[in-house]
Amino acid sequence: MARFVFITGGVVSSLGKGLATAALGALLKARGYTVRLRKLDPYLNVDPGTMSPFEHGEVFVTDDGAETDLDLGHYERFTHVSARSSDSVSAGRIYSNVLEKERRGDYLGKTIQVIPHVTDEIKDFIATGEDEVDFMLCEIGGTVGDIEGLPFFEAIRQFSQDRPDGKCVFVHLTLLPYNSASCELKTKPTQHSVKELRSIGIAPHVLVCRSEREIPENERRKVSLFCNVRREWIIGAPDLDSIYDAPLAYHEAGLDQAVLDAFRIEPCPRPDLSVWENVFDRVHNREGQVKIAIVGKYTRLEDAYKSIAEALVHGGMYNRVKVVADWVDAEQLENGVDAPSKLVGFDGILVPGGFGKRGTNGMIAAARFARERKVPYLGICLGMQLAVIEAARNVGQIWTAGSEEFANENENGCADISPVIYHLKEWVKGNTKLKRTVDDNKGGTMRLGAYDAVLGPESKVAEIYNSTSISERHRHRYEVDVRYREQLEACGLIFSGMSPDGRLPEIVELNGHPWYIGVQFHPELKSRPFDPHPLFRDFIRAAMEQSRLV
Ligand code: GLN
Repeated sequence: MARFVFITGGVVSSLGKGLATAALGALLKARGYTVRLRKLDPYLNVDPGTMSPFEHGEVFVTDDGAETDLDLGHYERFTHVSARSSDSVSAGRIYSNVLEKERRGDYLGKTIQVIPHVTDEIKDFIATGEDEVDFMLCEIGGTVGDIEGLPFFEAIRQFSQDRPDGKCVFVHLTLLPYNSASCELKTKPTQHSVKELRSIGIAPHVLVCRSEREIPENERRKVSLFCNVRREWIIGAPDLDSIYDAPLAYHEAGLDQAVLDAFRIEPCPRPDLSVWENVFDRVHNREGQVKIAIVGKYTRLEDAYKSIAEALVHGGMYNRVKVVADWVDAEQLENGVDAPSKLVGFDGILVPGGFGKRGTNGMIAAARFARERKVPYLGICLGMQLAVIEAARNVGQIWTAGSEEFANENENGCADISPVIYHLKEWVKGNTKLKRTVDDNKGGTMRLGAYDAVLGPESKVAEIYNSTSISERHRHRYEVDVRYREQLEACGLIFSGMSPDGRLPEIVELNGHPWYIGVQFHPELKSRPFDPHPLFRDFIRAAMEQSRLV
């Protein structure tokens, strides 16, 4: 039976609760334990798949095809444990399950209530697969005191009551704000936050106190006294230069030791931190820099492309170079003539995934700029589709080339374009045929999760991956139409990666270009600081060549 660590947050949001959870997972793993990390989100969307990236940042896709919170990305990047659909849940999903059971008559005529029906559903979610690991880390989204979070807090309170003593530990993350007028860190918000938590029946064992600076001994004692938490279980968490410093910093601050002590585990296995020492060294010892333009439409919120930003950092760490990623709003390039002035000086151009027409002309202009000026180009999902459209239009002179995603119907009910990118309605997953109709719900109806691809043995990507068979994560509705293959090959495109049945193009490269690769999947989701994704590794290497660093 696993031990459970519940991580909650107080005072303000965005304190780095996901990161603290991920770092704790990494440290427990470094001590030889098996871990699984879970996120419970109190919002009412069934999953984040239908939320705008502006609302909640990127949607992180798991191998088994779940659309989840971006914190699961942090969990994977820190622990190397692939998340599953059973690791992420929202209040919307919980309620939807409860209501489905109610309609089926599973509750045998009972009145359905938050306690016990909703809380039981949450508890079942937490306990799923508990026999598989030593530690289950469950992060509760939001902040203590939020109305929608209450059923989750109540559920974890009950859960710890149901379990034998010593099987659950509560870690609460708070803020000690710095008051520059009095030159001191203030403890009152933390005291209030813990009071709030205690009023709903949860007494935290460990407090992680985020602050701008080191916490003086005096404040530590005060927090300990007023919050009824042992002095040595108050963990100081000052701001860090890089998120990848977090495992070592939390270890030094005593987080993993405090948690193991709270479980009364003795003696504790010693951690092997060599992986993180190596990561630390690569983060802090780099020479020179490369500039990458990310031409997308959600550039206002960096979290919208979180995994891409991290994968670029990983590529930089591998090559020991600093990667400066500049977000270029695709709409500013809409008028093709502006592209050169905005893109000159970059060593690489990346067009990320996206949905809808807005900004696509700007992304096409960026793909054209990269093709013509021989700047390394990485097109991800939509970025691949638009690169194909660009080549079809500007090299193949198929002026009407477009995607059904942005097409209008003409008076005969036909698309007003040549759909080199078409709406995929039937495909195969394993041995199952999957189908989709136009009237399907928007949520969860894409080609989602891990699919295999076969790479051409002579291709650049086969060399980069050092393999001809790969598996990568997908999240899209549209596909390059193989029926245009010959025409597109005549434009210089090489179909270097295909689905195993040969029907779906997975990767295109451009003949005669130093580095021009479009992928239908999302490689960024599988990149780790200690195991950078081959495509990002090589993209950064190519960018270094471009900047004549090598
Ligand atoms: N909108 C495109 C599609 O659905 C691309 C999706 C993406 O970039 N993730 O196919």
